[in-house]
Amino acid sequence: MKIYHGNILFSPRLGELTVLPGGYVAVEDGVVRGTYAQLPEPLAHGPIEELGEGLLLPAFNDLHLHAAQLPTVGLGYDGDAGEWFNRYTYPAEQRYSSDLDYAAGVNGELIHSLWENGIMRSVIMCATGPEATQDLMKRLMESGLGACVGKMNSDHEAFGEAQESMPASCEGTRRLIDWARGKSALVRYILSPEFVPAVSEELLDYLGEQAKKEGLPVQSHMSEGEGDLAMVLDRFPREKLYGYVWDRYGLFGQTPTVMAHCSYVTEEELELMARRGVFIAFCPNAIQHIPGDRFLPVRRALDLGVPVGLGSDIGGGHTLNMLQNMASAIQVSKTLCAGRGLSAAEAFYLATKGGGSFFGAVGSFEPGYQFDALVIDDRALVGHGEYTLAERLQRLLYCGDSRHIVRRFCAGREIPDPAKG
Ligand SMILES: [Zn+2]
Repeated sequence: MKIYHGNILFSPRLGELTVLPGGYVAVEDGVVRGTYAQLPEPLAHGPIEELGEGLLLPAFNDLHLHAAQLPTVGLGYDGDAGEWFNRYTYPAEQRYSSDLDYAAGVNGELIHSLWENGIMRSVIMCATGPEATQDLMKRLMESGLGACVGKMNSDHEAFGEAQESMPASCEGTRRLIDWARGKSALVRYILSPEFVPAVSEELLDYLGEQAKKEGLPVQSHMSEGEGDLAMVLDRFPREKLYGYVWDRYGLFGQTPTVMAHCSYVTEEELELMARRGVFIAFCPNAIQHIPGDRFLPVRRALDLGVPVGLGSDIGGGHTLNMLQNMASAIQVSKTLCAGRGLSAAEAFYLATKGGGSFFGAVGSFEPGYQFDALVIDDRALVGHGEYTLAERLQRLLYCGDSRHIVRRFCAGREIPDPAKG
């Protein structure tokens, strides 16, 4: 049993903060046993680790990002989506898939950035190359961070040429599933069709079968823009909605599923997602960089009970700083949902328990939750006044970055800097 003593903040429900100034959290075998304002007598005699005057928060979770796009973060936002894809994104993904030394360098930098930004769990879409994907999974396993990682499946021409053949896509996927099976409790393979326009019916069938047979989670994009939505409905007129196409292939909540963006999602789809527990990765930066005419109705999704987490969506989004992603989520939601934008506590929930729930009992300090935690030194942010813990969280969210994160824990284990390992 380990007991930590510090200023504890977590969000057990959307909009709610549990605040324990000078509180205690008891952790056993990597799992939270309880949080206490005062330590109960049976625990009072064990060794207590003092965390000082900083904050102890659940670590952050990023539900959507692209490993191969790390080198193009910040590029292509001046043009349209076509320029972003063709000039920057596809070439970066092709290089990542074909040049393993280069991919290994990107993977190392990505893991360091995740660690630095306090993202202890992430859902990562790689490019089509299986070797680069395997390299990332292996490095993540060594780092101690948690993740769902998948090789992208993309065998059908969407906006350009198809990126791989159907047999190569299946073979690469199969190899990674076999390689990853049983290797790690923290790093799992996730089936990763790019999006419906880029996947043939045969490959969708294959992925649905794998999801069912292996019980594997699924990630993709849905209704990101008007263009991709029109392509899907044109190809699958009988299904009528994008979500029903995924559903027809068994890729919509039959196993844990996360869909990024969902800008053009309908009420009927949101209701189905709520029933099936299909997660939405809300990517507030990406939708501002390459905006369409519509945005995810995030408040409506939450009202209907759809599970929602945050996605940095690098390189569509520009930063893995989850604090900045939270601030951005609040700002975008205030524009989108007149009068019903997200509060700071709600954005904090989405970045912790909201997204963490995709990985199980993750993202909170309630009993039974994995102890994924960050120790924050916010002295530089609160030197000029008296602040409550909730106000200190708000200061951190708007003004903080990785310099304020001083310790990181995943599943109870303190994670050292992967760059120094
Ligand atoms: Zn994406």
